[in-house]
Amino acid sequence: MSLAYRRPPNGPWTARVSLVSIVVPCFNEQESLPELHRQVSAALEDCRHEIRFLFIDDGSHDDTVGAIRRAATQDPRVQGLSLARNFGHEAAIEAGLRNAVGDAVIVMDADLQDSADAVLQLIAAWEDGADVAYAVRQKRKEGVLLRAAFSGFYRLAGRMMSIDLPRDAGPFSLMSRRVVDALNAMPEHNRYFPGLRAFAGFKQVPVEVERRERELGETKYSIARRTAGAVNAIVSFSKLPLRAVTMLGFVSAAIAIAGGLFVIVGSVLGNGLVPGWASLIVVILLLAGVQLVTLGIVGEYVGKIYDEVRRRPTYIAADRIDGDGGPTS
Ligand code: UDP
Ligand code: MG
Repeated sequence: MSLAYRRPPNGPWTARVSLVSIVVPCFNEQESLPELHRQVSAALEDCRHEIRFLFIDDGSHDDTVGAIRRAATQDPRVQGLSLARNFGHEAAIEAGLRNAVGDAVIVMDADLQDSADAVLQLIAAWEDGADVAYAVRQKRKEGVLLRAAFSGFYRLAGRMMSIDLPRDAGPFSLMSRRVVDALNAMPEHNRYFPGLRAFAGFKQVPVEVERRERELGETKYSIARRTAGAVNAIVSFSKLPLRAVTMLGFVSAAIAIAGGLFVIVGSVLGNGLVPGWASLIVVILLLAGVQLVTLGIVGEYVGKIYDEVRRRPTYIAADRIDGDGGPTS
């Protein structure tokens, strides 16, 4: 089935039907995927726009590909793309945005944490003129510790980033075609989708939704992966850590000069030699620590530069999946 945009024959301009693609990154989501497809289809039953689903299989180890193929057999609006291995959530979203057709593209998780009804709210905001309608979670359902960590991250990121990062807004959002094109034109390899989406600008509208608990399957994110994601998000959008390190250097240099003066003046005045071993060792340790931290932060950025200059693709697509049996390329 062609994915080309179709206008209803002889339809009046006001009754124009738009094409809306729903991009769903899927990593081991064989249980959630059919349920998501069912719930979203039901919620969008009366929607006047033409809907497409694009499931991105991010190198799943389970039968996610089979689930996509079954959905595509039942429903011609479904297409799938399978990546050559697990490239991560960000890469799967990027693959989806690059391959999605339509006047608007929605990105949502497979795990039903983003509710099907919220999709309608996003579409309504777009009809009212939004270029980016992003879901803002009213209440998080995760544990206390994780909630505190998320809140700390958004506070830190909000202070440090050169863009206005909306609080509590994840990937779940709708973007108009011009925003999707703007994102696809961005060349960087270290991608933090909510940040890039905010960077794009245009008319950004928050839509309050409730984020539910994951119903099926389990989270694909370990604490280590989340931490790496948070560091990536900040380093991608802020040079503040580098500047902070410079400030730290100035402060420790000032302390060193003051200490040096103290020692010189003391010895000229002949007040006797203070053994001062303890203070010496403290200063050395302090400076060594400052230098290591500095090196680490600089290294974070050097690593990013390395990633960018290698120009490796962020994902490699293996197969297109549709309903007619085997994968087609
Ligand atoms: N995901 C992915 N690749 C990965 C990890 C996750 O495509 O390497 C998908 C996953 O299938 C889900 C979405 O990204 O649709 C969010 O993942 P998850 O629900 O595990 O994260 P959480 O909601 O716990 O932050
Ligand atoms: Mg989830």
